Amino acid sequence: MILEVSALDAGYGDAQVLSGVSMHVEEGELVSIVGANGAGKSTLLRAIMGTLPARSGDIRFAGEPITGLPTHQIARMGVAQVMEGRRLFGHMEVEDNLRVGGDLLRDPVKSRDNLEWVYTMFPRLKERRSQLARSFSGGEQQMLAIGRALMTSPRLLLLDEPSIGLAPVMVEYIFGKLPEIRARGITVLLVEQDVQRSLTIAARGYVLEHGEIVMSGPGHELLQDAGLRRAYLGV
Ligand code: ATP
Repeated sequence: MILEVSALDAGYGDAQVLSGVSMHVEEGELVSIVGANGAGKSTLLRAIMGTLPARSGDIRFAGEPITGLPTHQIARMGVAQVMEGRRLFGHMEVEDNLRVGGDLLRDPVKSRDNLEWVYTMFPRLKERRSQLARSFSGGEQQMLAIGRALMTSPRLLLLDEPSIGLAPVMVEYIFGKLPEIRARGITVLLVEQDVQRSLTIAARGYVLEHGEIVMSGPGHELLQDAGLRRAYLGV
């Protein structure tokens, strides 16, 4: 098991957002967390990445407890996060943004290899390698944010709402890259509001409602659940 979250509580100030969340991800899986706006999906990713402290519960990465560890240490263990809103270095050129990710590796050969792979996956980034990231469209920024995370050779990639603010054709394109990422041996934990799309692509999914996991199972089975279809797909 690459990620195991047990009985996790987390929140902000007086607000408890996550209550007793337990979930896991097997190595090589693509797992999706779905839920409405404000259900606590991003909060779960923050707690895993250590940018928000857990109030109680246990988080393990590849068997090692990571609860309470600083984010940079969790990153060094092999977890990379692509945040909602993307957080690029707008004043830097595309290739420099990617190299920041690669520098964390301290392995120039691997870093070069990753750069080639990212450019093969996203040719648009290669074409625009010397441009400033802030001149990018939303879709290009998402490619760059994903590329930068992949440059660190993560074992586990946390993807927060990759579809947000993108045109449907670009959402299609970005989702189409997820199998390629998995084929490189990278496990993916995806958080999405697009329930249909993310459960279609995921091996397994969890449904988060008001900070609690209310349903889990293979993506295609969840998509057949009448309650889920009513609540999230309006059918
Ligand atoms: P979204 O799709 O809107 O990102 P989400 O499922 O990811 O939804 P979270 O962002 O985890 O939900 O938010 C869960 C709850 O926590 C919401 O009620 C939100 O207002 C609150 N919240 C999120 N971030 C903070 C913060 N930094 N400080 C205080 N409350 C927050």
